[in-house]
Amino acid sequence: MLELKKIKKSYKTGDFVQHALKGVSLSFRKNEFVAILGPSGSGKTTLLNIIGGLDCYDEGNLIINKKSTKNFKECDWDAYRNNCIGFIFQSYNLISHMDVLANVEMGMTLSGVSVKKRKQMAKEVLKKVGLKEHMHKRPNQLSGGQMQRVAIARALANNPDIILADEPTGALDSKTSIQIMELIKEIAKDKLVIMVTHNPELANSYANRVIEMKDGEIINDTNPLKSKEKENDAYQIRKTSMNFLTALHLSLNNIRTKKGRTFLTAFASSIGIIGIALILSLSNGFDEQINLFEKNTLSALPIIVNKQSMNLDEERQDEILEQDDYPDIDYIIPALEVGEKYIHNNKLTNDYIDYINHIEATDVSGINYSYMMGLNLLQKVNGKVKQISTTNLTIASYPHTLNSDTKSVITERYDMLVGHEPTNKEEILLEVDSKNQVSKDLLEALGFSTTNNINFNDILNSEITLVLNNDYYQMVGNYFLPKQDLEKLYENENNIKLKIVGIIRLKKDYPSLTATPGIYYTYDLQNYLININNNSDIVKKQKSVDYNIMTGEKFDLTTEEGKNLKNNVLEYLGARGEPSMIQIYPKDFESKEHIINYLDKYNEDKVEDDKVAYIDQAHLMSSLSSNIMTAITIVLVTFSSISLVVSCIMIGIIMYISVLERTKEIGILRSLGARKKDITRVFNAETFIIGTTSGMIGIFGAWLLLFPINAILLNLTNLENVAIMNPLHAVVLITISVILTLIGGWIPAKIASKKDPVIALRTE
Ligand code: ADP
Ligand code: MG
Repeated sequence: MLELKKIKKSYKTGDFVQHALKGVSLSFRKNEFVAILGPSGSGKTTLLNIIGGLDCYDEGNLIINKKSTKNFKECDWDAYRNNCIGFIFQSYNLISHMDVLANVEMGMTLSGVSVKKRKQMAKEVLKKVGLKEHMHKRPNQLSGGQMQRVAIARALANNPDIILADEPTGALDSKTSIQIMELIKEIAKDKLVIMVTHNPELANSYANRVIEMKDGEIINDTNPLKSKEKENDAYQIRKTSMNFLTALHLSLNNIRTKKGRTFLTAFASSIGIIGIALILSLSNGFDEQINLFEKNTLSALPIIVNKQSMNLDEERQDEILEQDDYPDIDYIIPALEVGEKYIHNNKLTNDYIDYINHIEATDVSGINYSYMMGLNLLQKVNGKVKQISTTNLTIASYPHTLNSDTKSVITERYDMLVGHEPTNKEEILLEVDSKNQVSKDLLEALGFSTTNNINFNDILNSEITLVLNNDYYQMVGNYFLPKQDLEKLYENENNIKLKIVGIIRLKKDYPSLTATPGIYYTYDLQNYLININNNSDIVKKQKSVDYNIMTGEKFDLTTEEGKNLKNNVLEYLGARGEPSMIQIYPKDFESKEHIINYLDKYNEDKVEDDKVAYIDQAHLMSSLSSNIMTAITIVLVTFSSISLVVSCIMIGIIMYISVLERTKEIGILRSLGARKKDITRVFNAETFIIGTTSGMIGIFGAWLLLFPINAILLNLTNLENVAIMNPLHAVVLITISVILTLIGGWIPAKIASKKDPVIALRTE
């Protein structure tokens, strides 16, 4: 039973207050057909809206099932509208972008009836109103009478107890009006139907109770309830809820009616995504390239242990680095020794060399120990014996392998252009650069004319004469001086004839920067010479005196510097000292990591001074470039993000326009029992669709653009497939796009949900 007690309602427009209802008291039977008559502006619609819970009353009370609605919450009203009330409007109020069936289903959709059941029920009521065969038409494909039948079907679909009809025949011709009235009369058999009409004849012939209104008051009631008339039947109120899928479906339908605009919006907001995706793909690709470069190429660079290295103590290094270069100051900073803090003296003791020699043999392709030992080399050029200066030419030892089952550095890294690898200490190699060049100086020193190119075969098997220190130097007073008679020295029987047995060139995969053309002798020869020289007269003599036996220059042995100078001379003369440099050639990228770990382990429990620092050139180079890459990426992504913010605002505006366009639909949905939340959902669903679409367009667009970009990069850099899209980035970017558009549409969606359903329904 429904009862109105002294309901008052007024509308304020500016200073003017319009009293639409001035204390209306009415009771309705559970089952009757009530017609409300009255002139325009007398408050009929207002009354109906209040009964239907679409509008709130100011004063008085509305009693539903003997229950006051004074404390009804928003959701109670929503539920009441959804399953107790069916609205029929003069202007039909169908949702234009949905077909007839979907319109009829809407109320059930909102209350969460299963698809199958609501389809079946919707078809049933459509059959009842005689529109079953029109169920897949859009409202604008129907006549007025047919549309009103759809509205009636929709009002009936959820099987409500009360049907509220506001001038349902107002827009129809008299013949159609009669048909509609017949239909409503039939419904009224088991329901409470309250119908507003202008037409007293229709009211009198169909309704079994006529109420007349004027100026917001009841002036006549043909069949009021007697005070004893009491009804106990209760209306069941079920709560409504629209799930996100329904909202999505609703919005998809709506979007279909404005495909072009949606696509353009999505496309515009996808530009930022395209930008970021491209930048990430490129930096991704470059990082990958750098890694590859490091893996394949830079790992070919040896790890170098120099006698003097950068300081290991990073804190101390930082301290120095923090000091300004070229400071604008007027004082001097006293330092122990300038630059001293940078330098770390590595102690390349026998223990350390032994440690190095125990590196996992499978990790290294070779190790080279360089000594500062001087070589006395002679060559006969055009019948005249000449000295070969070792200071300006590359004449060095080449890396040896740790054991006989590992491939040598030569076979691994070099192409043997002609000849073979040395098999004994007398055999040497000539390395040419990537263009088969060797310095003129070296070739001339070897006795070749450099006016023309020189055939491999002319070089192969040519010899250089090595004179041992004992033969090369003679004692003159207290000094040792080189013997002057080179012809005689050349003929000495102890000489070693070094023979070029092969010409090598670095393989294509190795960086040409590691190539140093020159003469290379074996580790065996180096060891042999050190052994002999160590016991030579000249070394013994040099060890025993405190001056340079070749120049007479005095060493100040009380200072570190003096001691070092003497050591250098000794090493030059071939005394066994510490190597000046150790080069460790890793097999590949992974073995390089192993070697680094191995070298770090040596330092683990050593005091600072005993630690040995090494230089990992590959790492230095690649970490520098990937740091730069990261910095560039961050800057570019930040710039692109600005376009995301712009698109976020744009989405907000577009959504606001959409809200304005869909105001009527909001009203209809609310009259069918949609909650505010559901309305928010409908618009969030729309932004969700736009966001997802724009994210996908962005990723797809970026993916398409990668082809020409890679083609251009291939042209410019010879690198294939530089830009690669990381699938994870793609997913994250789509998510970001969705989140940003949701944020952009948030406020418009809120505005939509706050719309007053009555006002929303009144808009055209
Ligand atoms: P009826 O349906 O009988 O023609 P209404 O109930 O629509 O009359 O309106 C009753 C009175 O209240 C009218 O004077 C109308 O101008 C006023 N009114 C109705 N709704 C509003 C509103 N939202 N704002 C201001 N005045 C309103
Ligand atoms: Mg009206």
